[in-house]
Amino acid sequence: MIFRQLFDKESSTFTYLVGDDGSRKAALVDPVVEHVERDLRLVSELGLELAVILDTHVHADHITGAGTLRTRTGAKTHFSVRGGPACADVLLNDGDIVQVGALVIRGLATPGHTNSCMSYAVGDRVFTGDALMVRGCGRTDFQEGDAATLWQSVHEKLFVMPDATYVYPAHDYRGHTCSTIGEEKKWNPRLGGSATLASFVALMGSLHLPPPAKIHEAVPANQACGKRE
Ligand code: FE
Repeated sequence: MIFRQLFDKESSTFTYLVGDDGSRKAALVDPVVEHVERDLRLVSELGLELAVILDTHVHADHITGAGTLRTRTGAKTHFSVRGGPACADVLLNDGDIVQVGALVIRGLATPGHTNSCMSYAVGDRVFTGDALMVRGCGRTDFQEGDAATLWQSVHEKLFVMPDATYVYPAHDYRGHTCSTIGEEKKWNPRLGGSATLASFVALMGSLHLPPPAKIHEAVPANQACGKRE
């Protein structure tokens, strides 16, 4: 499998490129609209054809490149059926498979940060969006955020995967790039170790974070698949 991790400094967002060696078909996970040219250049330099775009959720901190990439390449845009935008080509249910050449990508509904949150598992990796981050998780105080739902998603859908599974989140703010399920079960201060549902709900209710700078621009744009088409 071809794999690249890309980064947007402004929103600390990771974009991932996964490609199938044989068919040269590729998928982008969580592209950022400002980096469409960068991403398309990389796809081309690696001799790949962009077939699939996967968003892990309706983001509040950046605008997805999905719509622009679809227009430019004909790739199919994918979101969760639960809260995903109607403009998506494919709305995924929990457990649905997305085939990219020989690559089998499985969608896992992991709501709690937003209703639309979906993780994507491929091989020994899982793209967790904002459901599970390295030693952290997405906030649960806007959109449809709900801490108890997020706890359930992480414990029932992600922490049941093999410990060696690599965790690739949608963001990192402290310089990490990836983790593993085993590491997060042991060391995630919110969701792992000795944390409980009650401690998690109390903690998430006490964060009092400022809203993301672009929330009023990004959420409506993402509900239109990233309107800069
Ligand atoms: Fe988010």
